[in-house]
Amino acid sequence: MERFDIAIIGTGPAGISAALTAHARNKRFVLLGSTELSPKISKAHRIDNYPGLPMITGREFAEQLKAQLAAMEIPVTGKQVSAVYATGDFFTLQAGEEMLEADTVIVATGVMQGKLLPGEEAFLGRGVSYCATCDARLYRGKTVAVIGSSADAAKEAEFLAEIVENVLYFPISGELPSESEKLRIFHEKPVEIIGEKTVSTLKTDQGEHEISCVFVLRDAVMPDKLVPGVETDGAHICVDLSMRTNIPGLFACGDIAGKPYQYVKSAGQGNVAALSAVSYLQNKK
Ligand SMILES: Cc1cc2nc3c(=O)[nH]c(=O)nc-3n(C[C@H](O)[C@H](O)[C@H](O)COP(=O)(O)OP(=O)(O)OC[C@H]3O[C@@H](n4cnc5c(N)ncnc54)[C@H](O)[C@@H]3O)c2cc1C
Repeated sequence: MERFDIAIIGTGPAGISAALTAHARNKRFVLLGSTELSPKISKAHRIDNYPGLPMITGREFAEQLKAQLAAMEIPVTGKQVSAVYATGDFFTLQAGEEMLEADTVIVATGVMQGKLLPGEEAFLGRGVSYCATCDARLYRGKTVAVIGSSADAAKEAEFLAEIVENVLYFPISGELPSESEKLRIFHEKPVEIIGEKTVSTLKTDQGEHEISCVFVLRDAVMPDKLVPGVETDGAHICVDLSMRTNIPGLFACGDIAGKPYQYVKSAGQGNVAALSAVSYLQNKK
């Protein structure tokens, strides 16, 4: 299996900035995340506080970033990472069905908005999943729910409908999937995930649905679910001024590394994280 010097997770300003620096330092790296980049970029009406880009719209900013990545020949994988495991000397990452290895990892996944649903944490791995690609096959012949708020949730739900018996889709934000015999959309607000040993029911503000799994598809997950063992303050990964975490070789930057939530701070921290990863690699030799 190919081993990267640096795996960068997240295609917001932090991850993109880290990628530009890793490229400038001639490292073997992979940029994991949506090819559409962060929805927090494209959704901004107008950005007034990014030096050198006065009064740019979020959409224009996203286009500029895409053009810069293309000009540098930095590919974006389009892959969502569901877990990062520190094995001691290097890291293993689960990206869809693929496993990747890297000597260092930069987490630039943005901060998770909103609260976990009651039952979500308790049933994680027992009928709650954050990755349709990874877990769809476990629910062949079953009915599953999708709570969709990520940019890719609609597509993921359509993929799930090819594998499982029925998909009940609960949109929170983003595009709607195409309805079909196997995929139905419910405009109801999920309020609780219920079960005994495993999940059996999704309770909404309008009733209850019998299901075997709830796929909670957000743009970001809680950091300790993504990287077991990383030190957090809840929503954020704890870092020092070099963007180092408590796990050697693991760095974090941008919103996931704490407030203020700002583009310029995220981009700056992405640059620091990449340079710290480069120093770590040099010291490791
Ligand atoms: C509507 C709006 C307007 C804003 N306006 C401004 C403004 O004018 N000025 C300003 O400074 N800030 C503004 N902000 C804040 C700014 O958007 C954030 O601070 C900034 O985007 C954070 O960058 P980031 O790279 O840390 O994270 P994000 O931009 O959140 O990017 C993280 C990326 O990582 C991806 N990701 C998450 N988990 C995974 C995973 N497991 N695998 C792969 N990819 C993953 C996400 O899909 C996302 O693409 C605004 C925010 C919003 C929502």
